[in-house]
Parts: sequence; structure tokens; C-alpha cells
Amino acid sequence: MYDLHVHSIYSDGSGEIDAIVRKAREANLEAIAIVDHSLEHPLGLTEKKARKRHIEIEEASAKYNIRVVEGIECGIKANGEIILPDFEFELILVSIHDPVPMDEYYRRIEMCLRNHDVDVLAHFHSTIFDAYDGRDIVRDKEIIDLLMENDVGLEINTAHHAPPSSVLEDCISRKIKYSIGSDSHSLSRVADVEWGFKMAKRFLKKGRSLL
Ligand SMILES: [Zn+2]
Ligand SMILES: [Zn+2]
Repeated sequence: MYDLHVHSIYSDGSGEIDAIVRKAREANLEAIAIVDHSLEHPLGLTEKKARKRHIEIEEASAKYNIRVVEGIECGIKANGEIILPDFEFELILVSIHDPVPMDEYYRRIEMCLRNHDVDVLAHFHSTIFDAYDGRDIVRDKEIIDLLMENDVGLEINTAHHAPPSSVLEDCISRKIKYSIGSDSHSLSRVADVEWGFKMAKRFLKKGRSLL
């Protein structure tokens, strides 16, 4: 198992890099991705913070002998824009954090997937951001098509319990790329990914895990 969505003190998480990686090791994960929020977040990852985090990640990875992926989670803004600090990330997650009407919700994701080179769409239709109501089944399918066309992964997020199973059902017969993450902001939830792997086993047998 792996956990490809963890926030640290480098954005709004409470766990230090060393402690997060140690917890991942103790949980016997194969890999973990630290994906702090990007610059649109008040506590987001600046270039300077990304460089400092890089050193700590390398140290912790060697110390605990586990793969640690250096990532970032970008909120998708109007016109599908994302903001990134000047740094090479191994993993770029994108997600909607603004409470926008459903039409705008789809539009932002579509434009982002068309215009930016990203790796994973995180917590699609998260109930936490009220995006679940008013879903459009046809547009959900279009998002899945766009993910496939652009080889972007669909995240199963165990904090948001997203995406809803109806979206996963649409993926049953497709070779969709997917990723699983806890979206933990504290040490206690690092490696809390079992529900995600259970859902992947049930709905995404034909899919391809990101790791
Ligand atoms: Zn998020
Ligand atoms: Zn997150």
C-alpha cells in the first residue's frame, strides 16, 4: 500500500517530515507522497519552502528506507489556472477548493486538464466542499474521458470519501490511472488508506495504479 496525499508543516499540516515518513515506515507502506498546498493557499509552499522540504525529504527517505515522493496540491482557480512555485515536483495533484456552482466546478476541471500538465485529479466531488449536489452524470463521464486522454490519475481520497461510487462505477471497464491518498493533515491519519484500496479493488480492477 501507499499514501500519495499527505500535508506537512510546509503547508497546513501539523506533522514534521521526519515524523510523517517514520509513521509511513511503521505502517509498512511502500511509498508516501508529501503534497503540500501550493501558493494560492495562505500557508502554501513557496520556492524557498520547497527547497528546504526537499532536503528533509531526502534525509527522511534515506533514514527510514522508504520512497518519498515530492509533490504539491494545486487548487484549481478560475479558467482552470493553477499556480506553482519554481521547483521540479514529481507529483502534481489538482483539486477544487473554492465553493463554486457545479457548472463552474466542471468548467474549471476541464480547462485545467486541457491546459496543464498535471498528474492526479484529487477528491473529485468531495462532499466536504459541497460539490456533490447537482452532479451531472454526462459531465462526470466527460471528466473521466479527459483524464484518460491526458493520462491523468483519478484519486481515491479517504478523507473526503471521494469520488462517489457512481463515478467509480463509470470506470469499471476502463484502464484508468488512479492514485490513493489519505489527505492527512495530522500524523494520526498518515497511512489511513485502506478504504481507498478496498474501493480500487472493487471498482478499478482494470485500472492502473499510479505506483
Ligand atoms: Zn484538497
Ligand atoms: Zn489535500
